[in-house]
Amino acid sequence: MLMRKSVMNILAAVCMAAVLCSCSFLGGTNGETAQKTEFLAMDTYMSATAYGEGAENAVTLAKDEVQRLDKLWSVTDENSEIYAVNGSGEVTVSGETLELISFMLDMAKRTGGALEPTLYPVVKAWGFTSGENRVPSSDEIQSLLQNVGYEKVSVSGNTVTLPVGVMLDTGAVGKGYASDKAAQVLKENGVKSALIDLGGNIVLVGKKPDGEDWKIGVRDPDGDGVVGIISASDCAIVTSGAYERNFTVDGTVYGHIIDPKDGRPVDNDILSVTVIASEGRLCDALSTALFVMGKDGATEHWRTHKDFEMIMLCKDGQAYVTEGIADRFEAEEHSEMKINVIEG
Ligand code: ADP
Ligand code: MG
Repeated sequence: MLMRKSVMNILAAVCMAAVLCSCSFLGGTNGETAQKTEFLAMDTYMSATAYGEGAENAVTLAKDEVQRLDKLWSVTDENSEIYAVNGSGEVTVSGETLELISFMLDMAKRTGGALEPTLYPVVKAWGFTSGENRVPSSDEIQSLLQNVGYEKVSVSGNTVTLPVGVMLDTGAVGKGYASDKAAQVLKENGVKSALIDLGGNIVLVGKKPDGEDWKIGVRDPDGDGVVGIISASDCAIVTSGAYERNFTVDGTVYGHIIDPKDGRPVDNDILSVTVIASEGRLCDALSTALFVMGKDGATEHWRTHKDFEMIMLCKDGQAYVTEGIADRFEAEEHSEMKINVIEG
């Protein structure tokens, strides 16, 4: 049976949005009223919650910003700049799109191609962009991989050139990038306390209005609950896992994160990886790439760069947590998961 979780999530979100309208009032802490807006963009359910003066206007502007970027960067919207680049091979793009593409290329280099921005033809063949999932043959994958490789993309000024057949995919980084822009909009509008959640790409602006850290749950990859809680403020938190979007054929589960080396869904020792860093774009790019690298590769990447922290939930039932976040991550009360600290 083919199943596409995101469609179900979106249907649920549409129903919720219909009940709540786009803005809803929630009880805040310390007398502050929360202003929350919920919306759909980038094929997922999103929300922004802000506190304090000007918050109502600010969350609406943040939503507008994310929806504007979705129009610019969607791989399927015929009017987007990424669609234009993918279609004609040479396009002059806006400064923002250039920034996104340059960032994706930098991260591809940094991760040795584990983050592969030109994977679109392969992702498409597995049906992850259309929802019509299928298992492509090895021959088909091999032939599509001929057109994959970030070094094939050339950028000169604002002009991006792709050889015929090469196509960009913004799926692994777009939400993270948009979350930073949304946070910027909130801050420009005077917000000092907010939580942005773009389909699991979280950005925390300041602390909670009562001055405490935010508490963010890390989802159980095998169930609906959370396995632990991160206490944090003023940072971004992004999780990648195969459970987020997948389909099952003949008992085999195929996840939406693809190993660029073989063009097949990643199947290694990691169930999910959560990245904590100052910016959403870095967290988003890394969570996808570290998932591809597996536990040892991800650990080595952390030791080399140290500009992020991570929590890996692995198939051995254990959590592997870098030392900089270990004292801010607490396992759920009834969890039997063992937490191992990764040291530098
Ligand atoms: P999500 O979008 O669920 O938050 P990710 O940020 O990990 O998850 O991005 C996964 C998406 O990125 C896939 O749906 C696909 O479009 C694209 N993708 C899959 N594998 C890779 C990869 N190795 N490098 C870059 N993009 C990828
Ligand atoms: Mg990502």
